[in-house]
Amino acid sequence: MEGQRKSIHLFDLDDTLIRTEARVLVRGGEGSVLRALSPAQFTAYQAAPGETLDFHEFSDLGILSRGILVKYTKSIIDTILKYGTHSEFGILTARADKKLHAPFLIRLFKSIFGVRLSNELIFAVSDTRFSGYKDRGALAGNAPFASLSVSQRKALVIAQDLVGRGFNDISFYDDSRENLDSFKVMRQAFPHVAYKPHFIDPTWKARLGEFRDSRADSKLLIKGASSVRIILEHHSPYGADQQEAMRMLEAGLPIRLDPEPVAIVQEDGRFYLRRSPPEARPDQAG
Ligand SMILES: [Mg+2]
Repeated sequence: MEGQRKSIHLFDLDDTLIRTEARVLVRGGEGSVLRALSPAQFTAYQAAPGETLDFHEFSDLGILSRGILVKYTKSIIDTILKYGTHSEFGILTARADKKLHAPFLIRLFKSIFGVRLSNELIFAVSDTRFSGYKDRGALAGNAPFASLSVSQRKALVIAQDLVGRGFNDISFYDDSRENLDSFKVMRQAFPHVAYKPHFIDPTWKARLGEFRDSRADSKLLIKGASSVRIILEHHSPYGADQQEAMRMLEAGLPIRLDPEPVAIVQEDGRFYLRRSPPEARPDQAG
């Protein structure tokens, strides 16, 4: 495959592109509502025996249109457009009912970004018509599409509906690592495809928690000062007023973060997350 790049920026919907108040309701045997899950909670939720999941809030276009565009993701799209792009844009969501969502999403992209979102690049992997279409095209004996996990369905769409249509440069933005990793584990099957997963974590909350819970002592902040500013704003007492914090880092002093015991340090012009050193003890001095 010489030369010809065919690229797409593909966005998850809930908690990546928009944040909505819609909830997945968990109902008990008698139909009573046991809990209400955000899209992020739903991704990791295992229903207990006797529980049923009620998605009716996600069928309400009113709720979808009251969703708030995630600012961080909007700025990613603005940046892509600012530098000019021949890429396509697409949506890959766990939601059902594409017919309901597609006109809204097409209007959203047109009005906010001036981008023409093509209906055929909007994939709603819980849509029953879409499952039917996938199952008709599948080999006999394959598991029904609807029986796969959300992340498996997303990976299949990338492999079949995007790579299958000639896309060979695929950036995928999602707030679920499981969804991002799902195609990653099979990408060796497609050596000509450049796959670029982007974890959407606007305030660094998930990544700081992951660092704290890992065994690592240090993690390089690849994007440097721009990441440092976001982390300081959301996880340090400096908030949006960061000049003093940046001066301290410059002077070689660590900035402790919430969650403890994570700190930011600057060394040789690069920024790192570090497990913050234990308080200096006199017997260690000298
Ligand atoms: Mg999501």
